[in-house]
Amino acid sequence: MVEEQLIRRGIKDPRVLAAMVEVPRHEFMPPDRRADAHYDGAVPIGEGQTISQPYMVALMVELLEVTPTDKVLEVGAGSGYQAAVLGQLGAEVYAIELIPTLASRAEATLQRLGYENVHVVVGDGSKGYAKAAPYDCIIVAAAAPDISPAWVEQLNAGGRIVAPVGSLHSQVCTVAQKRDDSLHTVHSIGCVFVPLRGQYGWDA
Ligand code: SAM
Repeated sequence: MVEEQLIRRGIKDPRVLAAMVEVPRHEFMPPDRRADAHYDGAVPIGEGQTISQPYMVALMVELLEVTPTDKVLEVGAGSGYQAAVLGQLGAEVYAIELIPTLASRAEATLQRLGYENVHVVVGDGSKGYAKAAPYDCIIVAAAAPDISPAWVEQLNAGGRIVAPVGSLHSQVCTVAQKRDDSLHTVHSIGCVFVPLRGQYGWDA
């Protein structure tokens, strides 16, 4: 997976590649989909949701430029896999998930694998997670209509947000850096994610 899907497509950060080697992706798959753990695409995890394509996880984590001293908010914990990759990089991670059954499954998997630096919480991550703010980085794993004002508010100066932003059907992986209370935005590749729900998502 790492050689054929990540390195061949241009993922370069050795720390990200090492984390993707270390985290046992099959542990985050539903029992009947374990054989698809290294499939080159998103895979259903129940509740109409998916574990993201390995390449998208690696690309977005690479774009986040996370360091071991960072506090990171992940919006859309899903299976907990991406949160584990961030935890493997040494960051303190708050992973928020709207669907309680997915959150408790992700939490159980992360605990079983010993990711003590990853905390799963239930809630509407379109509003961020004010209790643990401010964050050095925010990564969003669901398609957002725009960068939520709550994410900007809960981000430290110089911090980065990586999120798929666009329509319900197609988005652009967007990197936004907070500079002097304004956002400097750069676009990466096109992508397709499940919708972000909640106050600043598509429920609005
Ligand atoms: N990062 C996940 C992983 O590694 O398995 C994949 C995330 S999946 C593509 C998107 C997730 O975002 C779904 O589990 C969905 O329930 C969640 N979600 C959607 N809207 C949300 C919101 N407003 N707050 C928190 N989670 C949300």
